Amino acid sequence: MRTPKAEYECSVLIGADGYNSRVARILGVNEKSEPIPTLQYLMAGSRLENVDEIRIYVGNGIAPRGYAWLFPFSERMAEVGLGVRGAPLKPYMDKVLEILRKELSSAQIIDNRGAPVPVGGVISKYIFDHVILIGDAAGMVIPMTGGGIHSSIAAGIAAGEVAGEASQEGDASEERLRTFDQKYRPWLERIRRSLKVLRIFERLSDEDLNELAEMLSDEDIVDLANGLNVGRVARKLLSHPRLAAKLARQLLSI
Ligand SMILES: Cc1cc2nc3c(=O)[nH]c(=O)nc-3n(C[C@H](O)[C@H](O)[C@H](O)COP(=O)(O)OP(=O)(O)OC[C@H]3O[C@@H](n4cnc5c(N)ncnc54)[C@H](O)[C@@H]3O)c2cc1C
Repeated sequence: MRTPKAEYECSVLIGADGYNSRVARILGVNEKSEPIPTLQYLMAGSRLENVDEIRIYVGNGIAPRGYAWLFPFSERMAEVGLGVRGAPLKPYMDKVLEILRKELSSAQIIDNRGAPVPVGGVISKYIFDHVILIGDAAGMVIPMTGGGIHSSIAAGIAAGEVAGEASQEGDASEERLRTFDQKYRPWLERIRRSLKVLRIFERLSDEDLNELAEMLSDEDIVDLANGLNVGRVARKLLSHPRLAAKLARQLLSI
């Protein structure tokens, strides 16, 4: 591997260099997991009443095909962000700030960042002779939440173990490195199911989402978003005259 500073030799290279992975580019990987553009402000001087809760806002009028969030660090400091697809970020961010104006009126933006988050699931090929792509570079993010920290760390641990074993055995072939999939299987399944839930949810209207919020508990929503216990949550919706056909049956088939 050549960098601007030096040339390195290794038995296995773990490509953990994010969504615009250079390692993937060098390998000639053209496939990219579908991105959701995001924008996030770090705000100081807020007046938050409840710092023990995070807030998530969904709906086509607030964050089309995505969601907005408020993550408090303290009464006086919070992150406000959103991800949207098929719409510009800034006007929707302004709307979110408007919704939160009571708590943020005296707050200042002290940092902002924006980056694509891969929410289209894991790319089809991320293991090669001597190389494993992980994390955002391979689309290892929970699609419904856009959360990739835990899943990427888990992928790093699994890839590190496989790379260590493979190096010691002197076999870093693609076939040998494929044991990564066995170690990472629970996460691969979670990402797969969460993507299916996302595809079903992105067709719902705001009215559907409001009705769902009435029917589901916090735990149900967290489970669905993370691709966990989908069947249990789907069965709860079977009694709903409209959502049973629109949602529950599709969720049961995941
Ligand atoms: C605004 C925003 C908010 C988010 N909020 C959350 C959240 O609350 N919870 C959550 O779970 N996930 C969140 N995510 C997603 C999460 O940040 C990513 O999924 C996760 O960080 C992916 O980890 P990674 O190691 O694969 O990639 P990254 O975190 O992108 O790390 C890649 C690293 O590689 C380095 N790098 C890249 N190219 C080179 C190069 N050529 N040479 C040397 N170094 C290089 C980069 O500098 C970087 O340090 C958020 C993402 C964004 C954009």
